Amino acid sequence: MNNFNDINQLVRKNIQALTPYQSARRIGGKGDVWLNANEFPTAPNFELTEQCLNRYPQAQPEQVINRYADYAGVEAEQLIVSRGADEAIELLMRAFCEPSQDSIIYCPPTYGMYLVSAQTLGINYKAIAQTPDWQLDLTAIKQNLDSVKLVYVCSPNNPTGNLLNPDDIKALLAMTVGKALVIVDEAYIEFSLENSLVSWLATYPHLVILRTLSKAFALAGLRCGFTIANKPVIDALQKVIAPYPLASPVADIAATALSHENLAVMKLHVVNLNSQKARFTSELNKLDVVECVYPSSANYILVKFNDPQVFKYCWDQGIILRDQNKQPGLTNMIRITIGTQAQCDAVINALINFKRQGDN
Ligand SMILES: *Cc1c(COP(=O)(O)O)cnc(C)c1O
Repeated sequence: MNNFNDINQLVRKNIQALTPYQSARRIGGKGDVWLNANEFPTAPNFELTEQCLNRYPQAQPEQVINRYADYAGVEAEQLIVSRGADEAIELLMRAFCEPSQDSIIYCPPTYGMYLVSAQTLGINYKAIAQTPDWQLDLTAIKQNLDSVKLVYVCSPNNPTGNLLNPDDIKALLAMTVGKALVIVDEAYIEFSLENSLVSWLATYPHLVILRTLSKAFALAGLRCGFTIANKPVIDALQKVIAPYPLASPVADIAATALSHENLAVMKLHVVNLNSQKARFTSELNKLDVVECVYPSSANYILVKFNDPQVFKYCWDQGIILRDQNKQPGLTNMIRITIGTQAQCDAVINALINFKRQGDN
């Protein structure tokens, strides 16, 4: 007899146990103010320049690679383009980590995909919590480097918004020489571009930098990300990446987004968003329900409230934010993506009403 429940027993043990990444889309919600996924609030309007979908695309589309290399100030051989930075996180593990033998380190509170990718691939992982001021705990990392091949750090860090201290990253690079790669996730670096570590690649063969078009470039729907590293690292990733990771329409639009003209538009967007962030922060700071708005070098802010009901209240008003309450050390904190003026106003107005409710 066919038993449809038996299929689950065939699934790999680690996948049976896996909690998939809780993306904003997966969590869902109902509303008209979406500030939960760090997306850029307005959509660019790009058109396809090429139509030849009968052919396979280029494995590494030349124009995309050359334009991004120019933009990032690296050589084309120091780049690989993938289906978002998320794919790059996993490619590194596939190329460098022996399942059930090698480990990665990640430093919570941080982006969730480092853990999910390790769990999916059956690679061991060590969570080394950040210090209370959200910096690397170098002592703990140093004590835990046994069997570690990859150390994932995120700067500006998601969800806390702060940059990691560059001296700490230098110390991390020093203690991992010849043992492990240090991956610096710069998904949000455009919002404080002067802090990029790309220029360090000349000094450190084991430094890897992740980038994406999903945030400042306003192209989360395109699924296009980059890994910047020295050639030996890139060569290893080229071995494990899918034969045609980018659909040709994706490559076409990515190349357009990286033209001089559109880079200038992106940079203007960043300036505007950063001033919107400053305005929004000062409005939030006037509210009694707000305990702290943490400084942010990204396109979102982490806010600590003095009432645990704020997230649910906003959710019920159709204002969808990203709850961080369950993350270690982030009790009563919510991550809010910087939206348009109207979206930020909607958040402020909801919070003013929330305060009134509490006062009654
Ligand atoms: C959004 C995000 C990514 C994923 O970027 P994609 O290119 O959309 O896959 C990677 N790292 C961090 C820290 C992010 O916030």
